[in-house]
This record gives sequence, C-alpha cells and structure tokens, in this order.
Amino acid sequence: MNAPNASGWKPGTPVQDHNAMAGPDTVTGNRALMLEEPLIFEIGNTETTGVDLPEPTGGANRLGGLERSEKIGIPGLSEPETVRHYTRLSRQNYAIDLGLFPLGSCTMKHNPRLNEKVARMPGFADVHPLQPVDTVRGALEVMNELAHWLIDLTGMHGVAMSPKAGAHGELCGILCIRAALEARGDAREVILVPESAHGTNPATAAFAGYKIEDIPANSDGRVDLDALKSRLGPDVAGVMITNPSTLGLFERDLKEISDAVHEAGGFVYCDGANFNAIVGKVRPGDLGVDAMHINLHKTFSTPHGGGGPGSGPVVLSEALSPFGPLPYTARTKDGVVHLIEEEDADAFSEEHFGGKMQSFGRMTAFHGQMGMFTRALSYILSHGADGLRQVAEDAVLNANYILRSLDDVLDAPFGHSGPCMHEALFSDKGFAEDISTLDLAKALIDEGYHPMTMYFPLVVHGAMLVEPTETESKAALDQFIMALRSVAERAKAGDETLKTAPHYAPRRRLDETLAARKPILAWEEPNPPAGEPTMSEQGGR
Ligand SMILES: *Cc1c(COP(=O)(O)O)cnc(C)c1O
Repeated sequence: MNAPNASGWKPGTPVQDHNAMAGPDTVTGNRALMLEEPLIFEIGNTETTGVDLPEPTGGANRLGGLERSEKIGIPGLSEPETVRHYTRLSRQNYAIDLGLFPLGSCTMKHNPRLNEKVARMPGFADVHPLQPVDTVRGALEVMNELAHWLIDLTGMHGVAMSPKAGAHGELCGILCIRAALEARGDAREVILVPESAHGTNPATAAFAGYKIEDIPANSDGRVDLDALKSRLGPDVAGVMITNPSTLGLFERDLKEISDAVHEAGGFVYCDGANFNAIVGKVRPGDLGVDAMHINLHKTFSTPHGGGGPGSGPVVLSEALSPFGPLPYTARTKDGVVHLIEEEDADAFSEEHFGGKMQSFGRMTAFHGQMGMFTRALSYILSHGADGLRQVAEDAVLNANYILRSLDDVLDAPFGHSGPCMHEALFSDKGFAEDISTLDLAKALIDEGYHPMTMYFPLVVHGAMLVEPTETESKAALDQFIMALRSVAERAKAGDETLKTAPHYAPRRRLDETLAARKPILAWEEPNPPAGEPTMSEQGGR
C-alpha cells in the first residue's frame, strides 16, 4: 500500500464520513462550492449587452429589404455575468485536468503544458493560411518535420497531413484506395470490416460508396484469418483493420492478412487510433499496411473531447502515396520547405516519391490543424524516440494492471487471450439480473469518475472498455481500481441503489437516448401563471 499523503489519506483506502451532500436543503439550491445555474435564457435579458455601441446612424441600407424586422431575441449578459455563467457550468463538468478519465478507445491522457506553451507562440498561433508563403516558412517547417516523424514512426512512405480527425483520415485513406483502384481500371465494390470495429470504419467505407461485409472473429477475439482469406476475391477493394483492436488486442496475423489481401489485389487500411499502444515498438509499414490514420489528439496528446479539435494525418504506402490529397509540403533542392498545391508537382508528399502525382483532390480548404501540429511535434520532440517507446510500454502496463486487478470481480471476456494492449475490456456477466452496465457507470460518477466507454465494442455484452493511458500514477490507478471494484461488487450483489445513481451529481439520471434521438435544440419560454408578465416582458430575470 502507498504511503499516506499530507492529509493522512492513503491511496486505496475508502474515505469515511465524507459525504458533503448529506445535510439540510439550502434556500439557494447551492451546496457550498457546488452552484446551481439556470439556463442562459433564464438569466439573460434581451436588453443587455456586454458592450455599449451607439445606435447606427447614416449610411445607406444595403440589405435590400432583407433586414431583420423583429428583435433577434437572444439573451444578453454583461461580461461578469457571462464569465460566471460559463465558469459555473464548467465546474459541473469532468475534465482530464480533474481526474482519471477511463474512456476506452479515446486515449484521454494528460496534455503536457509545454505543448500548450508552444502552440500559443505568436509565430504559430497568429498565422493565417492565406498569408504569403514567405511569411510562414517556420509553420511549413513544423508541418514537414512532424510529417517526417510520422513517416519514420510508422515505417510508411508518405503522409497526408490535412485530415482533421480520425474519421476524416479514414475517408482520406479509403479515397486513396479508390483512386488507386480506379487508376488501374478496377471497380471493386466491397470493403471487409471486423465485427469489433469502431463505427466510423463501416460508416467511412459506406460514405465512399463501398458495400461493407463483416469479418468474424476467432475465439481469441482476433480477426479469423481463414474466414478472411476465404472471402478475398476480385470484388474486394480492401480491408479495414484496427490494430491494436478495439478489444484491446494486438492483431498478430496482420502481416499474413496484408499479404493475402495484396495477393488478391486489394489494399489494407489500418485504423491507427490505438497507435499509442505500439508507438516506437511496431511500425505498421512493416506489417504491410497501405494507409493508416493517426489521431494526433489521442496518441500525441493534443487536447480533445466535446467535439474539440482533432487531427488525423494519414500515412500511406508507396502504392497509395501518389494518390494522396493536396496540399503537401516538400523540401526542394534549395533546402527550403515548400507547400505543393498543384497537381503537376513531381515531388510527392515528404520527398519520398519521385513520380507524378495522381491526387484524388483535397480534404480541406487549407493545410490541416496547425495548432495540433505544433502540439504533437512538441510532444514528440520532448519525448524523443526512447520516450515515445516508453509511452507505449507504460500505457500497456497500466491497462494490464487494471485488467489483472479486477478480473476476479469483473468478467474479462478476452482475459484468456494474453496480455491486453492499451485498454482493458470487461463484460456485465455475473451482474445481478436487474443491474446493467449503465447502472454501474452511473455509480462510478458518484465515486467521482467519468464513466468508462460502455456498450462498445458491440461484440461484448454490456461491454466496459477502460483505457487508463500511461500518464496515470500507480496511486491514481489504485484508487480507480478500488472504486470500480466497489461498484462491481454492488452490481453483483444486486444493490438497488445503483439503479437510481448518480445520487451526488448536479443532475440525476437523464434519459440519454431520448436526448440523443429527440434533442430539444430551441428554448421555449415557459408560459407564466395567468395574469403575470412573461419573462421577456419583464426584460429577463
Ligand atoms: C477515436 C477513434 C476513431 C475516430 O477518430 P475521431 O478523431 O474521433 O474521428 C476511429 N477508430 C477508433 C478505433 C477510435 O478509437
């Protein structure tokens, strides 16, 4: 057991008599530092703004009769009211800077502050893609340097830097495959995808116009090699395989799979979202991969979540590189990095290609997510090659520590398949009959944790996917394990209080399905009691 910290509390020991929520109701609804906060529509006032502007005078109206005839009606707040509103809301949120974020497949690791500092340097933060190229040579150097690191780390041939998320990178890779097939006059129609794949994989293939067929798994949870081989044929454009997979397993047969797919005339797309488990250890290029996206926001620690910025560069094999999207960077004979925007350029993406480009087009208006590039390169350079290898080793060690610390109380459906990679997978087997994975996840909120990924991958009943990442200390892992063990034991014992969890969150259990399926996106002013003015007649609150 770990040494006590300054407060005398030892990691791994339950905290007794510490329930701040117990006690009488308060008149404000606030509970000490936990503040209640109404909607902005309820506190805002259509007459208030944060700035004082004079009424516009003079100047001809050039709106051609399209000007607004009524008040816009959005709530206005003064600056201090606005700051407090959003700060109060943000305090009801969970964040990687607050605690361990066990969301599997998402790689919620610490975002080093050094990255942030570098990204905020004015020379990076304030550049604009339409600036004259001569004024942004440094930014182009960063893109090119990062591109080379990605090529080296993956053992691939070229890289398309512009895709703006993992899913966008998938689309880029599949469009490269399509372009390569079309260039040889080959109209193949089918992409094979394992059952355990992230939903973006089949969605991408369908979006690019392919039919999707499932590849079954073997009893280990890995791709069934024989089933895959027997399905290959002249109609198969390629396979999309995640390695390590979303079951947290390394696909040991990937080289043999690639050889078979190539033999049959297809291409291999690898979903590289889980690259943090193998960075510095395995080069996907050595396994015969033709295209793979890298989630800079996962593996290389750039902040993400809540739809926040992603970046999904795609590394490409020699066969696919000529088809990659514009623009790309290349260092020409003068030693300067240039941005190649035209298809007739005869150097390809990061210099490795000598032939003519046959680009399928563009993925974005400009060059990709500059802010993520600077953060990722800062992360890579500050870790170095050996540090990146240790990232993978520690991520895998932490996940196995969780898997083996809990597999006596939680069912680990692939626990028999050897060590896991960066994430530990559990199922709801053994829970009392009326207790579900959702109940357990809600109880974890009461323990102060964001829940793990639930009900994904789909191939495991009541799945719980836990990814601790390499940035958690042993003390943090021990406390999380204690919390998860406790809620798992309650789930097995049929503790009915789980069904109404969370009990201590600012809001109780919500109907998340209804919220997702039928979101109410417009606020409607509630009707006031008869005879009283409406909120807007009162000028807001
Ligand atoms: C996160 C993830 C994706 C999608 O990446 P986005 O950046 O969210 O678009 C695809 N596949 C796997 C396995 C992932 O974990």
